[in-house]
Amino acid sequence: MTNPTIENVVIIGSGPAGYTAAIYAARANLKPVVFEGFQAGGLPGGQLMTTTEVENFPGFPQGITGPELMDRMKAQAERWGAELHTEDVISVDLSQRPFTVRSEEREVKAHSLIIATGATAKRLGLASEPQFWSRGISACAICDGATPIFHGAELAVIGAGDSAAEESIYLTKYGSKVNLLVRSDKMRASKAMQDRVLSNPKIQVHWNTEVVDVFGNGHMDGVKVRNNQTGAESEIHAKGLFYAIGHTPNTSLFKGQLELDEVGYIVTKHGSVETSVEGVFAAGDVQDHEYRQAITAAGTGCMAALLTERWLSSNG
Ligand code: FAD
Repeated sequence: MTNPTIENVVIIGSGPAGYTAAIYAARANLKPVVFEGFQAGGLPGGQLMTTTEVENFPGFPQGITGPELMDRMKAQAERWGAELHTEDVISVDLSQRPFTVRSEEREVKAHSLIIATGATAKRLGLASEPQFWSRGISACAICDGATPIFHGAELAVIGAGDSAAEESIYLTKYGSKVNLLVRSDKMRASKAMQDRVLSNPKIQVHWNTEVVDVFGNGHMDGVKVRNNQTGAESEIHAKGLFYAIGHTPNTSLFKGQLELDEVGYIVTKHGSVETSVEGVFAAGDVQDHEYRQAITAAGTGCMAALLTERWLSSNG
């Protein structure tokens, strides 16, 4: 069960960041060992396994489904010889080199580590959420806002921070009206963002408003809301409900071993993907609370593999 070999690099995660790192590391002959994980519906591939069309990944002018894009990335990593294990990592020891990475099935020692465990968009847990996820409910306005069904339609956004403000403004490009649902009587967004929201004639802010559920017939048609001051319930017509309530970075394995920010994202050096521990690199959404796109995840996965190669040649 224990493998005495010391690997060059272990990669944790199978989203765009993990597979891109695997492609680059494998092509550099580092023979990367990848723990793909299988959180998304029991499958590897990360967040894009939960979506339908991806319309903004370069190279696919007609769009491509999330699962097909991830299958292609996986096939490319395998073609260059990456060793893939569809297993979750259950613990890591970064206190000494070589680092130790364990799953239920194996223990691997490695000179370097690339962490690409991503982040999970928070959900509200509405009764109809599973039914209308990707059929109106979305966790990413930039990814899904341009979908034809949202053009000229009323839309809704839930949240109160900068992301909610930004997404509401962004969605006014497509929707006839954007209803911003705010749980309290104020927003947490910066003053400048609030001003832009409040002065936008296409945005209506609903204060003290909580979502009870969504409804529709096949695709979402509206949101049932409750005013938490009066208890009054009402319906808002909306073809889309965009969650802007934050993400949870998948970093519980690294607490106390790597520097994390106050939300739990891995802190990387400015303009780099180096972490607080030498030889450990972090790529994709696990270290990015700003862009959170497949292409930026892939880009930082590439950076992580190139820096790993450089690091191994001077320290390996
Ligand atoms: P993720 O894709 O989150 O992958 C993380 C990986 O780490 C997963 O494979 C997971 O199983 C694995 N993992 C986690 N913990 C462990 C562990 N302990 N052991 C082993 N493995 C582990 N972006 C776009 O650019 N265009 C779009 O159209 C688009 N649409 C989206 C639609 C939806 C519904 C969602 C949720 C996101 C969308 N995004 C889109 C955002 C995009 O999916 C993310 O930015 C991207 O997937 C981040 O890639 P990543 O590799 O950092 O992490």
